[in-house]
Amino acid sequence: MAWWMLVDDGSTHTPDYYKKWAPDLYKDPVHRWIDSYHILFPLMLFGLLYYLGGMSWLVWGGFVRTIFVLHTTWLVNSASHIWGYRSHSTRDKSTNLWWVALLTYGEGWHNNHHAFQTSAKHGLAWWEIDMTYLAIKFMSLIGVAGNIKLPKIRQASVAGVGVGALTGDELVDDPNEFVPSGF
Ligand SMILES: [Zn+2]
Repeated sequence: MAWWMLVDDGSTHTPDYYKKWAPDLYKDPVHRWIDSYHILFPLMLFGLLYYLGGMSWLVWGGFVRTIFVLHTTWLVNSASHIWGYRSHSTRDKSTNLWWVALLTYGEGWHNNHHAFQTSAKHGLAWWEIDMTYLAIKFMSLIGVAGNIKLPKIRQASVAGVGVGALTGDELVDDPNEFVPSGF
């Protein structure tokens, strides 16, 4: 019944898998430690909630919150492939969906994510609120995050030069064209 609380140590959670797909994180002993013992953090939080507020705090702050977060995360890969708008012509059906973005702190700008898969920032238009990116930006301000990757923005051609139909800034619609950003 509580399968969702158990440590998932399936076939993808192997050193070889991590070395291939996240070599930079695998090199960091802190990240490896967190990956091995991540179950301790929710258990400590559950204990603290029960200590502070009893069963009602444990149920609402522990169990209900965990299930809510789990389901909103899954909405990204379901609802954000069905409803919403597409800013980029990716080879899938991903969409940007505002209410999923609000529930998931920005993950619902999922078409942007598919178009720029290594970008830390998912909300690319000014109205696409991205709380996760704001948190990353805050972490960079206090010096604990760096080399943050963003989509490369290039100026569209000026009138009479190149592609005349473009105006203003144009997002480079190529996942390979990323530049690290210092802010
Ligand atoms: Zn997707």
